[in-house]
Amino acid sequence: MNVPFVDLRAQYQALAGEIGAAVRGVMEHADFILGREVEEFEAEFAAYVGAKFAVGVGSGLDALELSLRACGVGPGDEVITTANTFIATVLAILRAGAKPVLVDMDPVTYNLSAEVLAAAVTPRTRAVMPVHLYGQPAEMQAILDIARRHHLAVIEDAAQAHGAKYQGKRVGALGDAGAFSFYPGKNLGAYGDGGLVATNDEAIAAKVRQFRNYGQTQKYHHVVAGTNSRLDTLQAAILRVKLRHLDQWNGLRRQHAAAYTARQAGLPVVPPSVQPGVEHVFHLYVVQVDRRDEAQSALARKGVQTGIHYPIPVHLQGAVQSLGFREGQFPVTEAAAKRLLSLPMFAELTEAQLDYTVECLREAVGAA
Ligand SMILES: *Cc1c(COP(=O)(O)O)cnc(C)c1O
Repeated sequence: MNVPFVDLRAQYQALAGEIGAAVRGVMEHADFILGREVEEFEAEFAAYVGAKFAVGVGSGLDALELSLRACGVGPGDEVITTANTFIATVLAILRAGAKPVLVDMDPVTYNLSAEVLAAAVTPRTRAVMPVHLYGQPAEMQAILDIARRHHLAVIEDAAQAHGAKYQGKRVGALGDAGAFSFYPGKNLGAYGDGGLVATNDEAIAAKVRQFRNYGQTQKYHHVVAGTNSRLDTLQAAILRVKLRHLDQWNGLRRQHAAAYTARQAGLPVVPPSVQPGVEHVFHLYVVQVDRRDEAQSALARKGVQTGIHYPIPVHLQGAVQSLGFREGQFPVTEAAAKRLLSLPMFAELTEAQLDYTVECLREAVGAA
């Protein structure tokens, strides 16, 4: 049996009719740039996450960078985020002209914890970026409390957490701005690149709207040096169709996660820990195992595709070498990078694929 890590074709096959009609609709009315579907999707996504405003942009990276800029973050500012994240979080801070200040991840949630955040605040700190990594919300109440005390902007990196809930509220609308990615493999994925900024602050929404479209307030009136980062109308039309299925897909992901965890009981495998008061959406189902690389190869030989998120922590990447981070600086993140293993996870994963994956994992970790 072959178990892919994600299977985007299974989802397309189920929606092909609806998607085809949506794409043809855009072709027929031919407003390809910031067309009506972008506005419709923005309104629907804002309502879905419980934000007053949503602005579609070109990618998750741009959503993060434009959120920072709209919150007034720039040169001379420090922005605190977690060492266990995808590099986009850190690159967005650099692109906004600010200095990324990294802290070690929490060993249980793998997220930014309020306690380490508090210790990293300096007089130059301007913003904090919690990442709802793997689909699990960070401890937002405590993070928001610290941010309010120090007058920091809070920009959520919700690129892995569409639909996840923290104390009953969806992430992305809890801080000043929330950045989403619609990279195809995300819980809500386009058929190309896309991103979005959600916010309850009208001024932040207006600034992102300006930045994404050459800094203009009206055509050919450019008030700031903006960029070209508009959510594509075709992608918005596709995303509108898919948004209607997101809760169902997230529910299936949660079921698969519960089944994985139950069936792995007794194995030398550390399952993900789901915190009280959150609704995890399992963008990734990540376990820890000893001799991870051997386990991953053994699974691959059996046809089970897995991932590692992330094999090289962001502070040890060549891209940020000039920032002076060093090995040993974030021991929890560094140790986890050698043990983390992401198992196949997507809504359409079948019971047989899940059973087979657990059987292969049992053999791979040497427990008969
Ligand atoms: C995917 C992702 C991003 C970036 O999204 P793109 O659309 O690929 O630019 C940012 N942060 C995290 C945590 C991600 O997983």
